[in-house]
Order: sequence, then C-alpha cells, then structure tokens
Amino acid sequence: MNRQDAKTPRKTPSVGFHEECGVFGIWGHPEAAKLAYLGLYGLQHRGQESAGISTSDGERISTHKAMGLVNDVFTEPVLAELAGEVAIGHTRYSTAGDSALLNAQPFTVECNKGQIALAHNGNLTNAIELRRELDAAGSIFQGTSDTEVILHLVARSRERTLAAALREALLEVEGAYSLLVLAADQLIVARDPRGFRPLAMGRLEYDGRSCPVFASETCAFDLIGAVYENEVEPGEMVILGPDGMSRERFAPAQASAHCVFEHVYFSRPDSVVFGRPVQLSREMLGRLLAQECPADADIVVPVPDSGVAAAIGYAAESALPYRVGLIRNHYIGRTFIEPSQTIRDFGVKLKLNPVRSLLEGKRVVLVDDSIVRGTTSRKIVRMVRAAGAREVHLRISCPPTISPCYYGVDTPSKEELIASSHSVEEIREFVEADSLGYLSMEGLRRAVEEPDRYCYACYTAKYPTDLVGIETLLQGDVRRR
Ligand code: AMP
Repeated sequence: MNRQDAKTPRKTPSVGFHEECGVFGIWGHPEAAKLAYLGLYGLQHRGQESAGISTSDGERISTHKAMGLVNDVFTEPVLAELAGEVAIGHTRYSTAGDSALLNAQPFTVECNKGQIALAHNGNLTNAIELRRELDAAGSIFQGTSDTEVILHLVARSRERTLAAALREALLEVEGAYSLLVLAADQLIVARDPRGFRPLAMGRLEYDGRSCPVFASETCAFDLIGAVYENEVEPGEMVILGPDGMSRERFAPAQASAHCVFEHVYFSRPDSVVFGRPVQLSREMLGRLLAQECPADADIVVPVPDSGVAAAIGYAAESALPYRVGLIRNHYIGRTFIEPSQTIRDFGVKLKLNPVRSLLEGKRVVLVDDSIVRGTTSRKIVRMVRAAGAREVHLRISCPPTISPCYYGVDTPSKEELIASSHSVEEIREFVEADSLGYLSMEGLRRAVEEPDRYCYACYTAKYPTDLVGIETLLQGDVRRR
C-alpha cells in the first residue's frame, strides 16, 4: 500500500533515523530550478512531507523549502526566484513529532568554506555519537536530522577546499548517504562506500550542451528527457566546477550493501535502481512466490500500488487470472475531514475500495509487498472478505520483516514489527487470512540477481555496519554481520 497512509507516529530516538528521501541535481542548465522541480515531482513517492530546491548563479545560493508536496511547495513565481544554472533538490518523509520544517532540506549554511547547501538521502548510523561530540565542542544544531552533522564536520575541517573538507567529513561518518552538496561555483555528489541508497547519473542534452544530472531514481530522468548513464559508485565523489567534471574514489571500497527493499517496495517499477530495472525484480519476486507458496484459488488481486508488479508475476506463473479487485483513489491529500461519527477503518477506505463484482464468491490470492505491523493488511483482508470473497490467501513478496532499518527506510521499532515476535501462523491469524505465505530469503536473493550486492538487514537483523549509539538505544538487540 502507498506509504502515505500507513504511517502512525512512532517512538524514535531524537536524531532522525527513519528518513525516506529523494534527491535530484543538475549542472549547467539555464532552467535548472524548473528541471529540479520536475525531477522532484518524479521522486515524490520517496517522500511527501517536505520539498526543497537550492540553486546557484555562480555567486549566491538561493533556497526555497516548505512542508508539503512538490507541486504545492513550488509555484511559477517561487521557481523564478531560484536563479542560476545549477540546482539540487530534496523531497522528504520523516517520522511525526520532529520539528519538521527545521529538518526540511536542502540544509544551507554560511561557513568558512563559503555558502553551502546540502541534500541527503539515507541515515548515518554514528550520527548520535558524532553529534554528542560536536555538541560538546560547541556546535549549534538547528534541527534533529543526522544530516546536519555532515555540515558541521565540513565547517570544522581545516582543509581549505570544499571537496577536501567534505572528503574528510565523510570519512568520519558511517551509514547511508547519497549526497548532493552545492557551493557557489561547485556541485559535489557523493555516495557512501557501501552504496546503501541509490544514486543515478545521467545527461540532459540542451542546445549543444550535455548537462550532468543526478537522481535517486531514473524515473526522474525520464520526465525531463535525460538519459541514464550509470551509478555514482559507492565511495565515489563527482566534482563539477569551473574546471569541468572529475570523478574520484574518496573512500576505500567496502562490500556493497544496496538496499534490497528498494527493489521490493520503495523504488518505482519504471526506475533502474542499482543498475537493475525494478520491474524485473518485482515480477520475478511474484513468480518465485507463486512457485514457493501456491494457492488453490480463482483470481490473483494486487494490493495497489505496492503489490501490482509481484501480483502480475504471481498470476503469470500460477496461470490464474489477474484481477484488479481493489481500486485505489490517487487524489488523497494530506488532511481528511472525517464525519464526527467515526467510520470504521476510515484510513484504508479512503485509499482503497473493493470491486464487489470481481470478488464475490471467489477464492482470492491477495498479493502485497510486505507486512510491517499487520494492521493495514488485516483491514484489507477484511475489506476483500466483506466484498464477498469466499477465501483470502495473502501472499507477501519478501521474507518476514523482523528488524528495523537504520539506513533510510521508515520502519517502526522491532517490537512493533509483527514478524519480530510472531510466527507466520500467528500472523495469519492476526490478519485473518485463510492462508499466508512469504517469499523465502533464497527466493528474494534469486529475484534481484547478483544477490551478494545487497543489504538484507530488515529480514536477517544482520547489519553491515556498526550501529554506534543506536545499539545502546536498542539495548543491544542487533548484531553485526
Ligand atoms: P501493515 O499491514 O500495517 O503492516 O502495512 C503493510 C503495508 O505497508 C503494505 O501495503 C506495504 O506496502 C506498506 N509498507 C511497507 N513498508 C513501508 C514503509 N517503509 N513505509 C510505508 N509503507 C510501507
């Protein structure tokens, strides 16, 4: 199901852990702000809480950011104020309870390295520790986001150039970052040495020029007519400035740990992520799920939109008809006016409605990408049954989610993850399905190809980095791989 409605405020430590974001950058285009706006529009699914763009005209950086969807935050006059041929943009979802606008990005500062704007996707796992040290040394923080730590480290560095200071700062941080840093006459793009979060690079041809563009997902390139070229490599820094473009490795290579959940749920299926089309992985997840967990049923119904590609794969593999038995309302804003007499399961009903004529009397295979707390899934199972389905067989296109993500996907605490403490049979009972099947780890690994490139911590609780500070908060219930 779409992430916008699955949220409830959750207990989180004070430095932002669960940020989900999209980033975009463009260098050398007279309509940089407008293109960044369009790029962010294409990345809206990665974060719906705030949006921001910073541009540089070669001398000054201008920024506009606000709470809301990209299309609401940016109007024609606002974009006209964002002058210059270089732009970076950011769209963000974060947990409730944060002082939200303070954490909206790009972050901008004036420091001894000049004016800087920074947009970050991912989470730093040693941010708490670093922030404690910086606090003690007198640094003043505006918000609670871990991203600010990078800016402080850059400002404190004795290196004279921004690139060298950033290199030094990044060698101190651990965890996930796909990063765009804008200075008056420079754009620096960097990705953590394990490549947790995606970061694609492309080109936009314009008036005989070839402008470098960067985005979390390639669907942002498609919208602006840019061509995908390759990934910013893990541990790589791309520096664009008056002397042209250079690419360098700033950190030694580490075993790569791409987020497998990007392929399972987070990225759009029309994107190429980590060099692999998401659609291919998702359909394969569904096919393997059908092989591993067949069902004696009449139709396959996806939970839109998250279950669609896997359901197509499941239906094809099991030779069962694919039916769009749940219709999603795509026009849901942020706030809903609810009648004073509370409607049962209002949130889910706003978003989804069953097609009774398709479901009535049928044995239904319901396909979704994941179960987190189980509460939404239960409501959907009930909804399908109430619409007349005779049996509901829930199929999930990844293994049980047993452990939180500390690298930039919004997952609740371990206790709230139903699969951390319940067996598949107990979860089946909770969601009230006639049967429940999850894809195996082996199936997941097969579906994404080159399986050793990925991080599976949410399914295994084996984290590829130390979790400094976080570990204490969790009383040590995570292990290191
Ligand atoms: P629940 O049954 O309450 O655990 O919710 C499951 C639904 O949440 C599924 O439809 C998933 O697609 C969706 N979901 C999974 N991960 C996330 C996430 N990180 N953010 C928002 N929604 C998610």
